[in-house]
This record gives sequence, structure tokens and C-alpha cells, in this order.
Amino acid sequence: MPELPEVESVRRDLITRVQGNKVTWVEPLLPRMVKCGTLDDIVGVEFTSINRRGKFLFIDTSGEMTVYIHLRMSGTLVWRKGIEDNPSHIRIVIGFQNGRLLFRDPRTLGGIWINRKGEHPWKKMGLEPFDDNLTPEVLQKLLVKRSIPIKTALLDQGTIAGIGNIYASEILFDAKIDPRRPANSISNGELLKVLNSTRTILNAAIEANGTTLKDFKLSNGRGGEFANFLKVYAKKEEECYICKSKIERIVQSQRSTFFCPSCQTN
Ligand SMILES: [Zn+2]
Repeated sequence: MPELPEVESVRRDLITRVQGNKVTWVEPLLPRMVKCGTLDDIVGVEFTSINRRGKFLFIDTSGEMTVYIHLRMSGTLVWRKGIEDNPSHIRIVIGFQNGRLLFRDPRTLGGIWINRKGEHPWKKMGLEPFDDNLTPEVLQKLLVKRSIPIKTALLDQGTIAGIGNIYASEILFDAKIDPRRPANSISNGELLKVLNSTRTILNAAIEANGTTLKDFKLSNGRGGEFANFLKVYAKKEEECYICKSKIERIVQSQRSTFFCPSCQTN
């Protein structure tokens, strides 16, 4: 699933494609993927800025509406300039004078919301990882009553926005913290390490345009390069690059967690 670095890469990519452009036509090929409002409401408006909150893209417009997009498991946004045929699995088309933005989603779990300005589709969203207000003290308050594993807590979008399964494993490896530790047992000093690792890993992943393991692509069809820099994710039985121990895989809340049992002993 695209996480913060992938969505941020898509955001930067979209700025070059559609920011400042006017929507001239729309085609909801799979109407149930329009989760709120109607696409007709954005015809004739300009996309004025492309933003991100957690794993959501949101687009401010010159009209009354804000457009939110969530890619979920397999969504990508494809840019087409000419009259060539659409690729397969296109669910929504947003047309501009100079091209069209295609929401491709084989598994159809993604969605688009056309909301009134100021209304957003999420219930609770934690601080952004790069927000200066996100300190170890703030994080400790959020986790104080939570005895769930720290890895599972990092996936909760209400705690920190944008972290998903790949980066949660990578962050805890970088911070040398055992992913099975109860979230409320992590000290302030250790939470500082978690935050520093979060920022380091996410920044590096954004620099690499995200991680492509299967579906994730930018609008020109290119994938991200960060898979080359993963240290533990999807590396079960491979040697840890630091200590040569075998990377282990466990399941936490139905999700795979990868970690080094020798390096992550804190
Ligand atoms: Zn190791």
C-alpha cells in the first residue's frame, strides 16, 4: 500500500502535471469509487494546489470543493497527454485541456472524495511525522494507555499520520527497537530515536520516489527506488546487513513484521 513517501512522491509529480490546470471533463467509469459528492462539481474549476495529509492527497480548487484521493492497496495515477488508449483498470478519468489524469486501480479499494472546503474524509489523523510539534513527550502521551506492540501503534493513523507496514518495520530496525515491545513501555529517549528514525527513513524514501514492490508507480509509469535501500522488510531469512543474523518475520495484527533479533534488542 502506498505510504507517506509514495503519496508524497505522487504529490510532487502531480504538481508538474495538473497544478494550475482547469478540469474540462470527467468520467466516473466506476462510480462507487467516488465516495462523496459528484465529479461534475469539479468541471470548470482549476486545481490550485496539490497537498498531502497522511496517506491522502488533497487538491484545493478555485471552486467550492476540495478533492481528496486515497490510493489504498493498488491505486496509481497515470498521466496521458495524447489520444492513445487508456491502460487497463482505469476507474476514474479527470480531463484537462492538455491531458487527462487516470485513476487506475486493479483492486478498486481506492477512492476519491469531492468535499466542501473544510470538510475532510478522515475521522482522526495524528500529527505529520515532520511536524515540529511531534515530540517524544507528545508521542508518549498518545501511547501511555496503549499496551499494543509499538509496531502496531506506528500503523495507527491517529498516532502519527502516514506510516504503513513497510516503513514501520524499517523505522524500528533503524531505531534498534524490538517491534513486539508494548507501546507504553518505550521510554522518552527511545521515542526520540523512533522519531529521528522515522524522519530519516521517510526522507530517504521520498528522495527515492518511494518503494515499488508491486503496483506503485508515478504518473509516467516509473516506480520508486527505495526498495533497493530496505534493510528488513520482505527479507525473511536473509542476513542482517549489520550483524549477519537472519531477519525474522512475525505477524502482528494480521500484518507482517520484519526485524533483526540481534540488532533490535532494546
Ligand atoms: Zn542485525
